[in-house]
Amino acid sequence: MLIVDNNEALRDNLAECRSRNQTIGLVPTMGNLHAGHIALVKKAQALADVVVVSIFVNPMQFGQNEDFNTYPRTLGTDSLALCNVKTDYLYAPTSDQLYLNNNQQALAEQQTTVYVPGLSEQLCGEFRPGHFQGVTTIVAKLFNLVQPDVAVFGEKDFQQLLVIKRMVSDLNYAIKIVGVATIREKNGLAMSSRNQYLQAGEREQAAELYRTLLRVQERIERGNRNYQVLEKMAMQELRDVGFQPEYVAIRASSNLSLPEVHTTDLVILVAAYLGNARLIDNLRLIIDL
Ligand code: AMP
Repeated sequence: MLIVDNNEALRDNLAECRSRNQTIGLVPTMGNLHAGHIALVKKAQALADVVVVSIFVNPMQFGQNEDFNTYPRTLGTDSLALCNVKTDYLYAPTSDQLYLNNNQQALAEQQTTVYVPGLSEQLCGEFRPGHFQGVTTIVAKLFNLVQPDVAVFGEKDFQQLLVIKRMVSDLNYAIKIVGVATIREKNGLAMSSRNQYLQAGEREQAAELYRTLLRVQERIERGNRNYQVLEKMAMQELRDVGFQPEYVAIRASSNLSLPEVHTTDLVILVAAYLGNARLIDNLRLIIDL
């Protein structure tokens, strides 16, 4: 595996790959890698000749009071994990490569940004203003630098996946976007770098988030179509077991719009705090009308 920390080396190496007619897959991450990230790398390897994994904690997608400074940075163990699965390139840029100043002023200083209105303003976007603008701007930068044929993202960040697909379609990027199903702990908790913020006892409790989604799914499958009531019920159930939920939402999985009577492809999305950890999860289901 070659580790590159600057844009020039990245471009030179990838130009050589392209001259050998190799296709390129990109897996953008913020590091602190777990089995979920590795599943994306393996998917990219199945779809492209050469795989680039990026590790960059993007200041522009963090709010002022969020965890940019404390986000776990573990480049040493991450590079070992990527080496073990035979990643071709690790792009871990030094702080001056993507923003003028790599700090939380990035949002203010970056004059050109990419923004997908509508999709970016609801659900997580409502609770994290500016977050998706930070995501789409950094992903656009990575797409321009790497020029991949395919880019792989996790369905765990379901709204993010839809926002990126929309950006790619609106801006005519010739990049195939592929989603990978959420990798979970044995107890059902979706793997996440932020799970580290959970205290010892909270890990088991955190699995209630997924169990709540499963219960909502079961109620819908049993014929309950009163989505607003189901959302409120799930919010209360989460509060009862110690979460501070931001939202539970049942939406159309194609575009996150409110389901209509004929909508069959649904996604149940949730965001909730457990102690200091903000956790998100989702579950897709297809219903018979
Ligand atoms: P992050 O490093 O958290 O920004 O995530 C980088 C990529 O890994 C994103 O596309 C995430 O959706 C994906 N990802 C994170 N956790 C999981 C998981 N448990 N299963 C599958 N993909 C994941």
